[in-house]
Parts: sequence; structure tokens; C-alpha cells
Amino acid sequence: MNSQFNKDTVEETNEDDDEDEEETKEEEEDDEGFSVLSELPVEKSERRPTCRRCCRPVKVCLCPYLPPCPLDVSTCLYIVQHPAEESRVLRTVPLLAACLPPGKCKVFIGRRFSEERYPELAAVCKDAHTLLLYPGAGAENLEDLSTDFSTTAHSVVLIDGTWSQAKDMFLRNALLQLPRQKDVTVWRKPSHEFGGFLYKAEGTVAENPQRIMDYIRPGARRLEWDSMITSLEILQTLDQGCCVVKYTTSGQLWNIISPREFVDFSCTSEYQRGLLSCGVSVDHDEQKAGVVRGFNHPCGWFCVPAEDSEISVLTGYIQTDLRGMLPQTAVDTAMASSLVNFYSDLRQALKI
Ligand SMILES: [Zn+2]
Repeated sequence: MNSQFNKDTVEETNEDDDEDEEETKEEEEDDEGFSVLSELPVEKSERRPTCRRCCRPVKVCLCPYLPPCPLDVSTCLYIVQHPAEESRVLRTVPLLAACLPPGKCKVFIGRRFSEERYPELAAVCKDAHTLLLYPGAGAENLEDLSTDFSTTAHSVVLIDGTWSQAKDMFLRNALLQLPRQKDVTVWRKPSHEFGGFLYKAEGTVAENPQRIMDYIRPGARRLEWDSMITSLEILQTLDQGCCVVKYTTSGQLWNIISPREFVDFSCTSEYQRGLLSCGVSVDHDEQKAGVVRGFNHPCGWFCVPAEDSEISVLTGYIQTDLRGMLPQTAVDTAMASSLVNFYSDLRQALKI
């Protein structure tokens, strides 16, 4: 929405507000004379017809300015609305809902939102893929987030109220203040193995290395939580934690990077005080039609317990040749965000 549109909306709404007041006065006058007039046959008083889509009086219906069809969005909006906002004349939420497909805009009305009474909202707030729109010292620009919104569906929580109502709702609802885990750092340097980059990712995970590695090593569990992996099959199980695994990854960056298939030799073993799961692609003849075969140069995930603490440090070294004709900037963006998503998906899976 541009500022001109906003201005028009407000002006029309103010006019609408005045009309509401006038109507109220008329109704009061009607009430005074009601005892006398009640004996007479009267026609039902006519309410102003209201547009069913934007919920505004037909006279000031905004539907011609809204998209003719609901916008095709993957993001789901969760609006926590102050009760006073519901009756305000501006009524921006029905306008927003009218632009989105059914089910993509959910409204929760109230001042306090406990986990017990609002389990759906609580689950959304705890999800690592949920963003809260709220200004403050800890806020980040959407452009600065190293998140690829094309690979995972995200939810956005909006607080609807005046500034002071929104501040009160934000500060007094623990659900809206769940710490966001963004402590993942991604570095890169030119690879010695191929023409691309070696990526290193590091972050902490609140779990012991054994359980973390049970989720990372090739197997059905990895397929359950890793949003990048769309299929996974162990082709051969070898001794001492080794196997040959075939897996496919989803398209990234609005499918600029199409799905990829990999066939890797993988090995999971003890490493220092923790565990290591490493792999490298191997030659494999059978190839799925229409899927580009990618190639992993030596990669590995190292997991060791942090000093004096119950958390572990998980470090990944990834040098994936995606092959195909791809612009380097697309690969860089996709790699950084898929590594950050890897940590958030893993943390979410371990909580369950
Ligand atoms: Zn309308």
C-alpha cells in the first residue's frame, strides 16, 4: 500500500465515522418518541448495507482498490488484536483478510494470551520460522535476515492496537517475547577441492552430542526434520557407522536453484569429546530423470559439548558443488540461508 492509498482510506474513514455519530443521534431521537409510535405499524429501520468482503458500508467500500483475487502467499499472518481495535471504525484487519486466501490470516482477540488458552498461537510463537512485527532495540530489518523465505513457510505475528495497547500486549505476554535463536555464524573461503566455496557454519544446540548426531546422521529421522531434504534412501549399510545414502534436496530461491540429487558415502564416528558425521559424494549410475545431480566434496558436521554447560557446539564444513548453470550470488544466498535454517529446523526437532 502506498501513502496515497493510506491517506484516502483515513479520509474516507473519518467521513464514515461522522456518519456513524449522526446515525446514533437519530436513533436516540427515535427512542424518545418510541412509546408513542410503538402502536403504529412501522417498517423495519433500514441499516446501511455493508459490503460482505471488506465489512465497510457499501458507500465507502474499498473492494475496487483491493486485489480481485486473494494474493497467493505462503506466509500465514497471525493477528493478536486488542479488544478495543475490533470495534474501531478503521477496521483494517477485514481489509487485510480480504486480500489473503482463507486460512492465511487468523485473528486472536484479547489482551492476555496464555499458552493454555491459546495453544495454536503458542505453537506458532515457538516456531523458529515465525517472525514478530514489532519495533524495538532488538528488531532487525527483514532484508538483513539470512533467511530464504522461498524454502520454508513462515508465519508473521502482528499486534493490532494503538501504540500503547501494542506495547502493553508485547510486554505482558511472554508468548510474544520468546527468544529468537539466531546465534548461527556462517563463513566461507575458496575451496581447495573445486571452483566454489568452503562454507563453515557454527552454532550452539541445547542438547548432548549423541542425540544431536542421531538427528543429523543419514536415516529416516533426518528426513523428518530437515526441510531441505525431500527424499532419503540408504542404498547400502557398511561397518562402523558408514553407509551410502541417496537424497534429494528441494528447490531454492524461488526455484532458481532446482531440486538436486546427491549420492554420498557417509561415516559417523566419535571425534575428540564428541561426534563427527562426514561424507563425500560417490559415483552412482542410476539417476532420477529431470533432477540435477549435485556433488559434495568432503563435508562434515562436528559436535562437541561446550565447556561447563549442557549445550553443544555444532560446526559444519560444507563444500557442495550444485552444478548446473547458476549465478554465484544465488548459490551464496542459498547456502547461507539453508545453513541457518538447518540449525533452526534441528533445534525445533530436538525440542519435541
Ligand atoms: Zn467492499
